[in-house]
Amino acid sequence: MNIILLGPPGSGKGTQAERLRNARRLTHIATGDLFRENLKNKTELGLLAQGYMNAGKLVPDDVTVAMLRERMLRPDVSPNGILFDGFPRTIAQADALRDLLSSLDKKVDAVIHLVVSDEELVSRLSGRLICRECQTPFHQVNNPFKSCPFNKCEGQYLYQRDDDKPETVRARLQTFHQQTSPLIDYYSQAGVLKTIAGEGAVDEVTQAMLVALGDV
Ligand code: AMP
Repeated sequence: MNIILLGPPGSGKGTQAERLRNARRLTHIATGDLFRENLKNKTELGLLAQGYMNAGKLVPDDVTVAMLRERMLRPDVSPNGILFDGFPRTIAQADALRDLLSSLDKKVDAVIHLVVSDEELVSRLSGRLICRECQTPFHQVNNPFKSCPFNKCEGQYLYQRDDDKPETVRARLQTFHQQTSPLIDYYSQAGVLKTIAGEGAVDEVTQAMLVALGDV
């Protein structure tokens, strides 16, 4: 099953992706993580993406789709399917994904739309801390670091993403409303959209997602 997690920045896509990936044994592909990995390794792609990311803008579609395509075609992809996180973010990307999947005789089976108010998103993002090694998100107030889920560190790799600074957060939310939210209609018309309230406890949101996918 190929599933898309669709939601604004800070809606919990990363946290829920981890859980859904484990429940369904899917390959998790997060385009934001791929860009950050490229940035860490100072690749040409990473340096190109950096300017857009720090401005809260989208990296151009052709670059993003080429990166996604390369990742999707690697041999380690699970036969159970892919969990797309942060992709697609524009109608052009959604069309490209449909074509890519259809060339593999596959399709988008479900789109989980996580709904969270802007006010809550700003508070979540401004306190967010991420582990540089395993990408697990924590929050200064709501979910402070206690232990590493992989038992690998003592929290020494936590950092605030450059794009979680308040000015960039506002730009990212605007980008979501302008360029990504049309996908809600796009997938609703395709009959695959599952709308989930994303403001409850993490376990409740996971449960609601599994119910929507028919797992429970
Ligand atoms: P994320 O980690 O998903 O919040 O993504 C961080 C940043 O990476 C975004 O603000 C964009 O600049 C860039 N990015 C990630 N995914 C995409 C995408 N599908 N299309 C364009 N830019 C993206």
